[in-house]
Amino acid sequence: MIDNNAKVLLIYTGGTIGMVENPETGALEPFNFSHLRFNMPEIKRLNFNVETFLFDPPIDSSDVSLEIWQQMAGVIEDNYNHYDGFVILHGTDTMAYTASALSLIFENLTKPVILTGSQLPIGKLRTDGKENLITALEIAADKDVEGHPIVPELCIYMQNLLMRGNRTTKVNADNFSAFNSPNYPCLAQAGLDIRYDEQSILKPDYNSNVRFNYEMDHHVVIMKLFPGITEEVVKAHLEIPGLKGVVLETYGTGNSPIYPWFTDQLHKAVERGIVIVNVTQCLYGGVEMHRYENGQQLEKAGVISGYDITTEAALAKLMILFGKKESPADVRRLMQVSLRGELTVRG
Ligand code: ASP
Repeated sequence: MIDNNAKVLLIYTGGTIGMVENPETGALEPFNFSHLRFNMPEIKRLNFNVETFLFDPPIDSSDVSLEIWQQMAGVIEDNYNHYDGFVILHGTDTMAYTASALSLIFENLTKPVILTGSQLPIGKLRTDGKENLITALEIAADKDVEGHPIVPELCIYMQNLLMRGNRTTKVNADNFSAFNSPNYPCLAQAGLDIRYDEQSILKPDYNSNVRFNYEMDHHVVIMKLFPGITEEVVKAHLEIPGLKGVVLETYGTGNSPIYPWFTDQLHKAVERGIVIVNVTQCLYGGVEMHRYENGQQLEKAGVISGYDITTEAALAKLMILFGKKESPADVRRLMQVSLRGELTVRG
């Protein structure tokens, strides 16, 4: 149910949706927002208010950084009480990272924040951007019978699917269905109507305020295993000066080689206080280290399970927890519980 007084803030950060082709190089480049508005007269036909905030200059999302995430969160905080919901236009390349980070920056989010974008610029005839944007705006304005937002969560909306942001990953470089939420149901599907899966949507505490955790620590790294990985490569990762957290991308249910030098390097890093989180390289399913001897060796070395968390969410969570100055012991504990619905703990 959308009331005519609803107000949504549309935040344009950049991405293909607003890009135009450079006639000299043929490359897509960020363009200004008037171009987007010109190509989207449909926004005026919505029966609620949409106001805009522009990032200047807009960016290709490959340029996103911790500082830009803080700026995005700052725009939401500054405008939180004035709007019913927020839509962030963002490039798809790093959208799952941004969604994961923002979901953890916001605590007790009581309003929808929907990220969307497109694979084809809005000026192209076959663009996927129009439907994505219009539906994202409608979801951001939608309320239940009690007047609460239907989806008070940080989400990604793309190609008919509304997904919990920190559960998403970009799975396709050129298909319109660019995102997947492999280990958690979609929060809504848009067809003739928008059908919400209310059971799957987080319920905030409306009696307390939203909080913003801006501090993030960049002393984290992703280390992906591959057959033939050498001691030199592993050491180069684990001995990065100031390193605090590692997202270790392992095979299958969380397995790695059991060369003594490998487990020894991990064990020494854990003893130095580095938190190593095991996530699977597989798209679906999660880590169960007890299943195989190779997984058990990791557990013995002090590696912790990330269960079914995505790499993007694990990375963002380490950044936020270390940013909050949690001790390594507390980071280990908090990495293994769900803070914003980003993982499912399994036995
Ligand atoms: N390179 C673009 C970006 O992420 C791709 C896109 O928007 O889909 O900003």
